[in-house]
Amino acid sequence: MKETDKPVYLDEKLDKVRKAGFLKYRSKDMPTWCPGCGYFGIVDAFYRACRELSVKRENTVVVSGIGCSGRTPVFINTYGFHTLHGRSVPVASGLKLARPDLTVFAVAGDGDALGIGGGHLPHAARKNIDITFLLFDNSIYGLTKGQSSATTPFEMATNSHPFGNPDNPLNPVKLALCYGASFVARGYAGDPENLKDMIKAATLHRGFSFLHILTPCVTFDRENKTWKNLKEKVHDLSLESGADSMEIALDHAENYPWATGIFFHDKKRDDYRSVLDRLNSQN
Ligand code: SF4
Ligand code: MG
Repeated sequence: MKETDKPVYLDEKLDKVRKAGFLKYRSKDMPTWCPGCGYFGIVDAFYRACRELSVKRENTVVVSGIGCSGRTPVFINTYGFHTLHGRSVPVASGLKLARPDLTVFAVAGDGDALGIGGGHLPHAARKNIDITFLLFDNSIYGLTKGQSSATTPFEMATNSHPFGNPDNPLNPVKLALCYGASFVARGYAGDPENLKDMIKAATLHRGFSFLHILTPCVTFDRENKTWKNLKEKVHDLSLESGADSMEIALDHAENYPWATGIFFHDKKRDDYRSVLDRLNSQN
């Protein structure tokens, strides 16, 4: 009997998967996202990054706000905090300041992060609080049924603007750079291997890490960030070469809206806790 002809039993397969550590960071809850949603690719990359970094589940917290991304901590087998709309960044910041020993992630969609909670980002960035922020950007409000968000393209028809969105979209990477984030990168839900590398780099950075993730909402966006469009447009640039230059990073942010990679990485700047400790020790 050839090896391939042998029957495969689910228990044996599961055992193999468990032994390889594939289920360690997954919770038992089945994701409730729409079939085909880009968020599956994001959490898959997150599990892979945690596995490769040997992240300790008991020392890790994922904080979310409201929206489809708000469910993320439910599907991850670490501590989690599902907080108010737009408030994942301040809750994660407070947690990190109170418990510097924890690895803290904040997640939010484009509406949650740049609309409702848009006022929090500049402060976490300028203070350089050591958290990793993952922005799930599908350019639409998914959970509330397809309204224009802060990153919806100008003139795109949505459920809130059927004749076209009259507002100019924000550029999240440019914003993060201007706010003073010390690590700014972009990943793509359709390339979990590359996205895993971006999440790992963001997690290892000491300071505020901003990771912009391009992802489709398959239910409410049929023309902008569809899988088809993203597949054609997303490309990886070797941006690391200019990653310590703000001028180059800003130029890339302006001219490469579909490029993945690390745009800016300031390895020398002290994180907020180090600054506080230094100031306190001087008095
Ligand atoms: Fe994903 Fe959109 Fe469905 Fe929300 S509504 S789960 S973002 S596909
Ligand atoms: Mg959204």
